[in-house]
Amino acid sequence: MTETNSKRPVRHLLGLSGGKDSSALAIYLRDRVPEMEYLFADTGAELPETLEFVDLMEDYLGKKIERINANRDFDFYLKLHNNFLPSARQRWCTINLKLLPFEEFVGNDEVISYIAIRADEPSRSGYISSKPNIRTCMPFRDDGITKEDVIEILESSGIGLPKYYSWRSRSGCYFCFFQTQKEWVGLKKHHPEYFDKAKTYEKVDEATGTMFTWNQLGNLDEVVRKASEKHEPDKKEKSSKRLLDRLSDENSGDDESCLICMK
Ligand code: SF4
Repeated sequence: MTETNSKRPVRHLLGLSGGKDSSALAIYLRDRVPEMEYLFADTGAELPETLEFVDLMEDYLGKKIERINANRDFDFYLKLHNNFLPSARQRWCTINLKLLPFEEFVGNDEVISYIAIRADEPSRSGYISSKPNIRTCMPFRDDGITKEDVIEILESSGIGLPKYYSWRSRSGCYFCFFQTQKEWVGLKKHHPEYFDKAKTYEKVDEATGTMFTWNQLGNLDEVVRKASEKHEPDKKEKSSKRLLDRLSDENSGDDESCLICMK
């Protein structure tokens, strides 16, 4: 460590995703860690509701949320990956659009990074930087904070949940491959222009007939068609469910999704 670095105080960083858990953590720690720095890695493909929610959080926290961007956009990295769309197994989008900009922002400083993994997610893991100067801290897990508590923190602060929670259970890119069928239906309904844009990334290899799609069920039109067939009888049930139960249902598969994108 250089002399300059040894004199620098440890930085406390909290990366907001625009999702409920990291936002609740920011509220939870606002007065406990006054030196906290906040940041939001914007992929350039965020939902307007997410950006609006980050603005709202900035007002609540009374401190700037640093918006950080990758040097290149999604389309650049897509080309670099021979037009192979990212997937749960090939998560180059998270690395290039979220993780590396975060590490660049940190540089060589000693940092404590606050992660919003909850106590009711004992096996949750995710993409966390492995740089030796970045230590992670999980206050929700340490303090026994569960999903129910998170919702309570958001509600009692007056912030509430991001608007997209009425149709989507996670933040992240509008085309994110972690979306459930119902969420794709929601995207088509609430942001048809983004749905159409997501479709333009899907390709068929004419030589082999291989489909390059966001979802393994088929192209997005098929995903939406199959989802509406599958969920038609659930309409009544959904409206009568508590928000917490709905979030539990819709978060299936969440354990594999990105901490940095969706917590
Ligand atoms: S939100 Fe989804 S598509 Fe966007 S960077 Fe994260 S994993 Fe990739």
